[in-house]
Amino acid sequence: MTVTDLPEGVEPTPLALLLLGREADLGSERGVSCPGSLPAASDPALVDRAAAAKAALGDSVFVLGHHYQRDEVIQFADVTGDSFKLAQQAAARPEATYIVFCGVHFMAESADILTADSQQVVLPDLAAGCSMADMATAEQVAQAWDVLTDADAAAGTVPVSYMNSSAAIKAFTGRHGGTICTSSNAERALRWSFQQGQRVLFLPDEHLGRNTAVRSLGLTLDDCVVYDPRKPGGGVSAARLRDAKMILWRGHCSVHGRFSLDCVHEVRERIPGVTVLVHPECRHEVVEAADLVGSTEYIIATVDAAPAGSAFAVGTELNLVQRLAKRHPDKIVAFLDRTVCFCSTMNRIDLPHLVWSLESLAGGSVVNRISVDPETARYARKALDQMLALPQYAP
Ligand code: SF4
Repeated sequence: MTVTDLPEGVEPTPLALLLLGREADLGSERGVSCPGSLPAASDPALVDRAAAAKAALGDSVFVLGHHYQRDEVIQFADVTGDSFKLAQQAAARPEATYIVFCGVHFMAESADILTADSQQVVLPDLAAGCSMADMATAEQVAQAWDVLTDADAAAGTVPVSYMNSSAAIKAFTGRHGGTICTSSNAERALRWSFQQGQRVLFLPDEHLGRNTAVRSLGLTLDDCVVYDPRKPGGGVSAARLRDAKMILWRGHCSVHGRFSLDCVHEVRERIPGVTVLVHPECRHEVVEAADLVGSTEYIIATVDAAPAGSAFAVGTELNLVQRLAKRHPDKIVAFLDRTVCFCSTMNRIDLPHLVWSLESLAGGSVVNRISVDPETARYARKALDQMLALPQYAP
């Protein structure tokens, strides 16, 4: 599909990498379809239209906004947060028939798994996927488990999947006695897993797995191997798979993976005394060179709590960093990289898509519903429940 194929009156957003389509991409965690006619991005009435449609829907709709969403969308969110907080918030609103999830596909799946059957989850643009979640497909992970089995390494391996994974990967994790984790509780998830078995298969973000294992659990880089699903046998010998404590899936976030050691050195020169604050999805050398490391919620709380005059260089998604900078004009809140680095798929959710989904719901038509099949949902829920039951460990 080319730009010229776009429906009349529809303009691609400046940041769009994926063009609007009408078909689902079944090989991907995300879809690419967005049926119907969208209002033009240039329509000056978009804000009023979104407000009117939301008011018409009243308590029957609950709009969730991920921290990485654009300001134009966040202004209509009933609650903002990270993916797990948002899914929990949706589950706590049984009176809302419609959950409009301004985030990406795997988040909407989790919301569907955690909410009641009577609630319907809508993703305003099905092209809002996650490149990291796409890096581990159900087929690849099933194949990897076969490789581990052949290597005599499956027994004693506990799968730990990051929240940023498809429902199918979460279900795999539940089927094999593992747990889901977030960037806030990854350490507890690993501690629990090493009480259940001798090694962990960490999916799909190698950086979060490595950073947590080495920095929080005291494992060495040698204890970790990277399983590359594109290579025969994952590119790791059977002996290494058996010896490893952490089998890290070769996957990463295309946003956080961009920050380099050079960015850290450069910003320290540019802003003397700056505190470098990064997300654990960043590369190991970046995390090691940073002053503070933590989840999105941790980053927000740290900047919010800092005294006036503090200076931060933040290594996470740009929409959030810009919002923090706006909220704290008395502090320096700089982006860690000199180049622009939005999450392109998160940015698929824009005001025209939000207006389109809200107006469709107000008109009685449920568009872009995200629905996880019951069997997948059952095992994914098992892994999510295991995360909620993770014990607290003494520091
Ligand atoms: S920021 Fe990274 S992990 Fe989050 S949705 Fe975008 S690509 Fe996925």
